Order: sequence, then structure tokens, then C-alpha cells
Amino acid sequence: MNHELIPIFDGHNDALTRLWLSEDADPVHAFIHQRLAGHLDLKRCQKAGFVGGMFAIFLPPFSYVKQHHPNKLFDQNATDFTQQQIEQICLEQLDLAQTLVQRSENIKICTSVADIQRCHVQQKLAIVLHMEGAEALQHNPDLLEVFYQAGLRSIGPLWNRQSRFGHGLNAKFPHSPDTGAGLTVEGKAFLKRCANKKIVVDVSHMNERAFWDSIDILQQPIVATHSNAHALCPQARNLTDAQLKAIRDSKGMVGINFDVAFLRADGQRNADTPIDVILDHLDYMMDRLGEEYIGFGSDFDGALISTELEDVTGLHKLIERMQQRDYSLKLIEKICQRNWLDALNRIWL
Ligand SMILES: [Zn+2]
Repeated sequence: MNHELIPIFDGHNDALTRLWLSEDADPVHAFIHQRLAGHLDLKRCQKAGFVGGMFAIFLPPFSYVKQHHPNKLFDQNATDFTQQQIEQICLEQLDLAQTLVQRSENIKICTSVADIQRCHVQQKLAIVLHMEGAEALQHNPDLLEVFYQAGLRSIGPLWNRQSRFGHGLNAKFPHSPDTGAGLTVEGKAFLKRCANKKIVVDVSHMNERAFWDSIDILQQPIVATHSNAHALCPQARNLTDAQLKAIRDSKGMVGINFDVAFLRADGQRNADTPIDVILDHLDYMMDRLGEEYIGFGSDFDGALISTELEDVTGLHKLIERMQQRDYSLKLIEKICQRNWLDALNRIWL
């Protein structure tokens, strides 16, 4: 089997945030024409058969920016971002996505599965805009419309910190996903607004109570864009068997996260980790979810990835491992792309 022919659509990457943080003079140019440090750029995606994915707009933690990218701070004496700055950072990342499209005819922002499939035929990189953590939308409800009009079709309402929508999930390893209170009243109202607009609601960074709150509120399939099996790696971010069952019952979707700390049984951040552990999570979750509701959620550019995988061009190794485990070609194609497109259709149509 020629794995070059197997297209890959991925549930989560942080390339837009990396572009925003980049100190390259023209990171958009580097992404399109050269090689930009990190896990993916246009040429490597094309080489890998990576036809598209969910690209996150993400507010990096203030402490991280202060330590590693102090030039991105608006005020060197500040102790946190203001709400206005949070909104600006997310709008700047949206602008980067739009600039990629303006400057390359081989990149497109997609708002439907038909769009994504057209991109595939035309050999364009399909960007589905996602927002990871919705702090930018917590004060000004009109901003949701601005981002929606620009193509945003997926939102993870919570990240690892407290917001007006809920309590952040921030627990040491090992830990159950039950880390405290769930969605706030405002968070629940926000989910309903997303559902009314048929926006994907991503539960990947929710604690367990917020997860079950979401199950109660949402009539649509439940999606965890980049999470793994808690039974194999007891990270609070990973999904219990009961959560996996609820996702299956909703005809939802899970994208497997390649971050070694979310894969390894000991939770260690150690890049010297064989990629078989990704296959172990795949096998385990497929037993619970079935073959329809599982795909990739790499977390490229936001994760510590196994040196064996290295970057987007290493994805063929995962395909080879699936072949070695006797996955059929049909099943491999579903995991690599089809399941994601079907899940998006179930929510967007
Ligand atoms: Zn994440």
C-alpha cells in the first residue's frame, strides 16, 4: 500500500499561535515558502499528505509569554493580559490565518466539509478555524459573530485556567478528570449560543463536571479534538471509559493527542518515547468508541512530540504501524480523514 495516497485531516494544531509568537521577520512567508521551526508548514504538510486540520487561535499563558517571548508583551510591568489585549491577541492570530490565505493560493479557510474536499482535490491546505479557550469571547458577545463571519467553526470554551465560562483544568499527574466545579451559568449560556450556530464545541480541556454539563446542554455530537485514554495515561486531560462511552453515544469524535505526556503511563514529558504508545491508545479507544468516532488530534506546535515521529512528515510511520497491526486500508482511511469529515458534517449540516 502506498501511504502517500492516504490523506490526513487532523483535529488540533497550534500553528497559528506559533506564527504569532514567532520572531521570524516574516513568519507567514516562512510558513508558505520555506521551513518554519516547529511541527508543520505548507511544504511539509504537502509532503506528508496532511490535507488540513483544525487550526487553533489560542491565548498563551502570560507567564509563558513573559518568560519566552517578552517582546510580545504589551506592557513589560504587567502581571497579566487585560481583556482588551486578550481580544487583540486572538484577532491577530485570525489575521495571520487570513494573511496565509491572501499570500498563498494553496491555503484556504474552510467552513464546510465540501470546502475541505474541494481543497483536497485542488491540493490546497484546508484550515478549519478553532478557538482554544474562549476568554476572548467572555466579555463582548458580539465578537463571536466577528470570528464566526471570518470562518470560526469550532471552539473549546475552556482551557487550563479559570474564566467566566468555567473552572480551568489544572491538575498534577496522576489525577482523575474530576478537578472541581464545571461550567458557570455564563458558560452554559455560551455553549447554547455555539450550538445554535452549529459550532463544534470541543471538550478536550474540560474537567469532568464541565464535560457532563456539556453532555446535558448539547444536542450535537460531543467532540474532544485532542485527548487520550485515561485508563492508559491517568492525566486529568484524558477521557475515562464513561466519557468515551458518552462520546460514542452522541456520535461524536476523539482526536488522539501525540503529546508524550498524554500518552505515557507514567505521564513523563520525555520525547524518547516510541510511537507505538499512540497505537496503544488508538486500539484502546477504538474498542470503546468503535471505528467511526476516532481520528488524529496531533497537538502539533503545542506538544512535546516523540522524536520518532518528529513532525508532520512522520505521520506515515503511524500509518505503517497501523498496517503492522492489521488495520484494513478502509479503516486507516477513516482514522486518517473520513471520520473527522463525517463528524464535522454531523454538526455543521
Ligand atoms: Zn490543548
